Amino acid sequence: MIQIGQDIKFLQGVGPKRAELLENELGIRTVGDLLTYYPYKYVDKSRIYRISEIDGTMPYVQLRGEILSADTVGEGRGRRFVARFSDGSGVVELVWFQGMKYVQKSIECHVPYIVFGKPNVFGGRINIAHPDMEKDDGSQKSDSGQATMNFVPAYNTTEKMKRAGLNSVAVQKLTRNMMLLFEKPFSETLAPYIVERYHLISYDEAIRNIHFPKDSYTLREAQARLKFEELFYVQLNILRYMRDRIRKYRGIVCSRIGQSFNDFYFNHLPFQLTDAQKRVIREIHEDMKSGRQMNRLLQGDVGSGKTLVALMCSLIAIDNGCQACIMAPTEILAEQHLNTLRQLLGGMAVRVELLTGSVKGKRREKILADLLMGEVNILVGTHAIIEDNVEFRHLGLAIIDEQHRFGVAQRAKLWQKNSTPPHVLVMTATPIPRTLAMTLYGDLDVSVIDELPPGRKPIYTLHMFDSHRARIYNKVREQISQGRQVYIVYPLIQESEKMDLKNLEDGYEQVCREFPECKVSKVHGKMKPAEKDVEMQRFANGETQILVATTVIEVGVNVPNASVMVIENAERFGLSQLHQLRGRVGRGADQSYCVLVTKYEISAETRKRLQIMVDSTNGFEIAEEDLKLRGPGDLEGTQQSGMAFDLKIANLARDGQLLQMARDAAALVLDNDPDENLPQNEVLWRRLRELRKNNINWRAIS
Ligand code: ADP
Ligand code: MG
Repeated sequence: MIQIGQDIKFLQGVGPKRAELLENELGIRTVGDLLTYYPYKYVDKSRIYRISEIDGTMPYVQLRGEILSADTVGEGRGRRFVARFSDGSGVVELVWFQGMKYVQKSIECHVPYIVFGKPNVFGGRINIAHPDMEKDDGSQKSDSGQATMNFVPAYNTTEKMKRAGLNSVAVQKLTRNMMLLFEKPFSETLAPYIVERYHLISYDEAIRNIHFPKDSYTLREAQARLKFEELFYVQLNILRYMRDRIRKYRGIVCSRIGQSFNDFYFNHLPFQLTDAQKRVIREIHEDMKSGRQMNRLLQGDVGSGKTLVALMCSLIAIDNGCQACIMAPTEILAEQHLNTLRQLLGGMAVRVELLTGSVKGKRREKILADLLMGEVNILVGTHAIIEDNVEFRHLGLAIIDEQHRFGVAQRAKLWQKNSTPPHVLVMTATPIPRTLAMTLYGDLDVSVIDELPPGRKPIYTLHMFDSHRARIYNKVREQISQGRQVYIVYPLIQESEKMDLKNLEDGYEQVCREFPECKVSKVHGKMKPAEKDVEMQRFANGETQILVATTVIEVGVNVPNASVMVIENAERFGLSQLHQLRGRVGRGADQSYCVLVTKYEISAETRKRLQIMVDSTNGFEIAEEDLKLRGPGDLEGTQQSGMAFDLKIANLARDGQLLQMARDAAALVLDNDPDENLPQNEVLWRRLRELRKNNINWRAIS
C-alpha cells in the first residue's frame, strides 16, 4: 500500500541517486511532494503545426522535422548553440543559451524530431529558445494528427536533473506510475459542504486530472479546485490569526472627538478635506472607538494627503488622553513630517517631538523623559521609536508611514509599547493590488484614499531616448525660467554602487555645464545624513533650482514648486518606483512633467512597462499592470513577507476571483465554528495543522 508520507526512494524507477536529485533540486522527498509537483504547462499534442503557419502570435507549437545543421555561435555572454530545423515548409532556429555542451552531444542531424516550444519571430526569422525535443519514433501520433494523449504535462526540471536523464518526460513517467499505485480515491481535503457550495470537483478527480487531464474542460476544473484549496488554507490561516488577536486584545477606547481635533478642524485646517480623507478618518475613528484594537492599512496614492489623515487621527488619540507616534523609514522623511505637523498645528498646544538616530545626548534624554511623563503628545521618528528604552506614558495610536520598509515583526514590537496594545495604522503610497493586499496584509483592514486633492493636473509623462538630450534640457530650461524646480534622478543599485555614483557625478557635471546660470544640489546615499539634509533643505527652500539625486528622494519628499522629474536609465526602475518618483512633482496646481530617459536599444518588455507609465497616472492601475508583468514575487515590498509566495498553483495576479471566494469561504468557516470543534470541519482543522507544521513561512506570521 502506498502512503502520501512515504519516501520517494521506494517508488519504482527512483532509487537513491534520483531520490537525492529530486530532493536537492526540487525539494521532493515524499510521495505527497511528487503528487503536488504540478505541471507548469500542458502541450497540446492534438496537432502538429507547419513552420510556414507560424506568425509570431502563437503561444506554443509542436513541430515535426529534422535538424539540418547545428553549431555554436557568438562570443562571451552572447555565446549560444543554434540548430537549423526544417519540416520542408520552412526553417526555424532552435537556440540554447545554457547546457550547450549537453545539447550538442545529444542532438542528431537528419533524424525525425518532435519539437515543442514558443516561437519568436524576429526580423522575418523564427527561433525557439530552449525547445523540448523528442525523437519522433512514430509512437506519438499518426499522420492523421490523432494523438494518443491530447494534453501532455510538462514539468520543470533543472539542468542537473536533465543531465542525469531526469527530464520532464521522466518526471511524467514517475508521476504516472505512482498514480497507478493509488487504487482507492484520494481522500477529500476540504469539507464536503464547501466542495458543494463552491461547485468544486473532488480532490481525487482534481489531482488525477491536474497531471493527466482527460480534456481541456476537466483540466480547468482541476486547476480551479486546487487553486481554490490553496488560497483557502492561506486565508483560513490569516483570518484565524486575525480573529485570535481580536479576541485576545482589547482596544483602547478613543470615542471622544474633543478640543484638539475640533480646534484644528475649525481653526487650523488650511484646506477642505477631500471626501476620501473624510471617509477614511471616519473609518479609523470607528475602529478607535470600537473597543477592539485597530490594525488598519491606509492605502493612498502619492500626494493623496495621508499626512493630514495621520495628524487628525493622532488628535483623536490625544483628545482621549493618549499619545501618538508616527514612524517613517528615513530621517529625512521623519524630519519632514515633524516640520509639516508643527506647521499645520500652528500655535496649538500639541507638542510634537522628533526621535531619530541623530537625536543624541541631553536632547534625547529630555525627550525620552517628557515622553514618559506624557508631555510629548506626538512622537515622530524612525526605527529609533521602537527601541526598548523608548517608553510612552500611554501610547494610543501608532502610525507607520510607507509600510513596505517595515516587516510584520516590527509592527508587533509596537504593540508592546503599551499595556493595552495601541491602535496601529499602516500607511502606504505603494498601491498594492487588492488580491495581493488580501494575502500580504490579509490580517489588516483596509482603507483607501482614492481621490487626489482638487486642482491637481495629471502629470504629463514622456518617454525619450538619451540621444535627444537637447530636447530634454530645453524642457528643463523652460520650466526653470518660469521659476520652477527640477529633479534629475539616477538609479542606484547595490551591486555596482561605484559605477552608479560615477553616473551620478558625470550627470551632475553635465548638468552644471549645461545650466551655468542655475544652482544645482546633489544628494546620494553615500552622503552623511546631515549633509544630505542640508542639500535637500536648500532645494526645498528654493535656493537651488535643480536637484541631482539617486533614489533617496523616492518616498515622501514634498517640494510643491518642483515641476519636472527627469528619470535617467528609467529601464532600471520598477514601475511602482517610477510612480513614486513621479509623485514628487505635480504637487501644485500647475502642469508638471515627468521624462523617462532610456537608451535607444531597450527590450520590448521595457518599452511596454514605460508605456504603462506614459498612459496612466493611477497608482493602482500601474500596480495591477506591474503585478501582471512581473508576478507577485518581484514586487517591491513583498520580500519580507514571503508567506504569500509559496503558492504552488494559484497566481495572485490572475486568480483574484478565486481568492475572493476562498476568503469568503474561510470567513464562513470561522463564523460558524469559532471554537474549531464542529465535526464537519474536522478535516479542515486537521489539514491546516499539517500545513502549518510543514510551512516555515506560515509559522513566521503567527
Ligand atoms: P502623501 O499621501 O503622498 O503622503 P501628503 O500628505 O504629503 O501626501 O500630501 C501631499 C500634498 O497635498 C501636501 O502638500 C498636502 O499639504 C496637500 N494636501 C493634503 N490634503 C489636501 C487637501 N484636502 N486639499 C488640498 N491639499 C491637500
Ligand atoms: Mg507621505
